Amino acid sequence: MSDLLERLDGWRDEQIEFLARLVNHDSGTDDVVDVNRVGAILAERLERLGFTLRRVVNERFGDHLVGDKPGSGPKRFLFVGHYDTVFPSGTVKQRPFRVDEQGRAWGPGVYDMKGGLAAVLYAMRAHREVRTRTWDETNVSVVFNSDEERLSPSSREVIEAEARRAHSVGILEPARPNGEYVMARKGAGTFYLEVKGKASHAGVQPELGASAIWDLAQKVTALHALTDFETGTTVNVGTVRGGERPNVVADRAFAEIDLRAWTPAAADEAIATMRTICEPAHVTGTSARFWGQVHFPPWPPGLPGTERLLEIMAEAGRELGVEVRAIKTGGGSDGNTTSAIAPTIDGLGPRGSRAHSDEEYVDIATLLERTKMIALFLDRWARDFEIPAR
Ligand SMILES: [Zn+2]
Repeated sequence: MSDLLERLDGWRDEQIEFLARLVNHDSGTDDVVDVNRVGAILAERLERLGFTLRRVVNERFGDHLVGDKPGSGPKRFLFVGHYDTVFPSGTVKQRPFRVDEQGRAWGPGVYDMKGGLAAVLYAMRAHREVRTRTWDETNVSVVFNSDEERLSPSSREVIEAEARRAHSVGILEPARPNGEYVMARKGAGTFYLEVKGKASHAGVQPELGASAIWDLAQKVTALHALTDFETGTTVNVGTVRGGERPNVVADRAFAEIDLRAWTPAAADEAIATMRTICEPAHVTGTSARFWGQVHFPPWPPGLPGTERLLEIMAEAGRELGVEVRAIKTGGGSDGNTTSAIAPTIDGLGPRGSRAHSDEEYVDIATLLERTKMIALFLDRWARDFEIPAR
């Protein structure tokens, strides 16, 4: 395996430059032209690695890239990574890629998750150029999707279909701040509450009004009271809007609600309770509508498939002197979707912190380290993973 590692060492600077190139193209989810420009860079790399490429076009977002590299053996591994970011067009101009004296790399999407994309592409390149047996024998699929930061509405089916063909899945989301892999994620849903009331002059005829804000306020209080840190079910009203001016009884109010839960049953129970809070009128004369859904199903802790992949990763880590740890998190990813279909390990990307903020960074030395981990992991997986009877 020293061949693989030597190759990767030799590409260290080049790989950082490649990451810089990915980061220095904006790809905010809603900016389809930008997103497809980054897609083109990735597509070119995949084709050079010998992948047959399919572009899945959709109406609202950039293309999803589905790649297939055949092998002579029976096993198939799937890598999933998204190349959209939460940052709109123009962000790169304000804060392009840079590496500071502490070895931290900055720039929009550097951590979530262009680092993971740069890592997997070089890990596979090393296998290809060293001509490993793993590369000859293993079928490798990739899905690079463009809408994850909107909870993957148009790529979900594509990911599910590829996961069904695969024996294991690696998600290229970044490592946690202490380098942990991810072994479980809460289910996540977004819900909406709209209250209609009756406008009236707040001074002259307040009794003729029905305040949508007052009604909404009582519901917000009850919704937040559903949060239970013990069970992990959390409800967060993340936005509220309503009313026009202080001297008018508000005839409209609106809230967006985030729900997280560890099990489908807990999510269902919370949704039912949310409905009983939201639908009845707390203020006479108002009416309310409540809707929404769970976008990422729960990925519960302790799945045997995930445990097995962590063992394999730990073996890869032993070769590099890297201790492998994994954690559970409340944040959703496409791993929520794949873990219900095939053994999944998440958090393969480099270490860093502050995703979705302008303080997002990657510890740049871990780009190479995680790339090596992916390369060694794939090798171990190809050798040791036993295809379970399904
Ligand atoms: Zn991400």
